[in-house]
Amino acid sequence: MDHPAISVVVPCFDEGEMIAACHQRLTGVLQGLDAWYEIVYVDDGSRDSTLAILQAIHASDPNVTVVELSRNFGHQTAVTAGLEIAKGDVVVITDADLQDPPELIAKMLELWAQGFEVVYGVRETREGETGFKRWTAKLFYRLINRLSDVPIPPDTGDFRLLDRKAVEAIKSMPERHRLLRGMCSWIGFRQCGIKYARAARVAGKTKYPLNKMINLALDGVASFSTVPLRFLAVLGFLTAALSVIGILYALIVRLFTHTWVAGWTISFIGMLFLGGLQMISIGIVGEYVGRVYAETKHRPLYLARTVLERRGDPPRLR
Ligand code: UDP
Ligand code: MG
Repeated sequence: MDHPAISVVVPCFDEGEMIAACHQRLTGVLQGLDAWYEIVYVDDGSRDSTLAILQAIHASDPNVTVVELSRNFGHQTAVTAGLEIAKGDVVVITDADLQDPPELIAKMLELWAQGFEVVYGVRETREGETGFKRWTAKLFYRLINRLSDVPIPPDTGDFRLLDRKAVEAIKSMPERHRLLRGMCSWIGFRQCGIKYARAARVAGKTKYPLNKMINLALDGVASFSTVPLRFLAVLGFLTAALSVIGILYALIVRLFTHTWVAGWTISFIGMLFLGGLQMISIGIVGEYVGRVYAETKHRPLYLARTVLERRGDPPRLR
């Protein structure tokens, strides 16, 4: 097969223990493919030895580009920074922890050659992940697929191959709250998944504690769905309808009985209920208003301190 020029984007945050092993394995796979390739490492504000190791790798390997972000901008933004600098006909996104086997890239390329513009990895098994993480992941995909207009294939991560057209499409989406796997779904094009067994992390620990996972899930829902807002409107109508019954009841009690002073229970409950409902509603609306605010500031998505460009020959693109 006549291979395209391949870029591999690897976001790294405190992966000092991992990065050398990662580079070795990736390089082995890519050299075996007999194609032009580059590896773009994005240092996402690491606090450990990651940057120093990346600089050493860059000095010894002409196929490596290193982007050093000015601080930690988060995984999805780091990947975006990599996508923007990647030059290949196809771009593969993978993690630095070798949980996603780089050997799969060959298979992805085969599917690309068959005309698929997005080839995403589907995790069939997940080693070394807690039952809780698996359960929350399942819940996340179920929720997002119920709420959002674009389905996101379950059990996908960011391990995927994108054709140049897909990369340009993603680059044209300037939104701040980014869930790349959702954006990849949204752009359309011909897509297909390949199943693989996700290995456990070789070293280091996950950079996705619970709070970051919740944020990612919230981003997914709020960026791809306005169902929560519609849900509020429906809830508003329902409570309004309910309150008509309450009003009628109060009037009847007031006009036709003598026990009308005793109505405080219902008004107390009603007050609590409506107060709670309003707080929730304001919160949800606020979530969206906050996003509008973040977008209107038009800040850059990330800032790079340095970019160490690759020193090898430029690709001969198709
Ligand atoms: N990562 C990053 N910035 C962050 C968090 C994570 O660049 O703020 C990188 C991390 O170095 C790794 C990838 O994103 O290469 C995925 O993170 P991790 O493996 O911790 O996530 P998990 O596989 O546990 O979901
Ligand atoms: Mg990982």
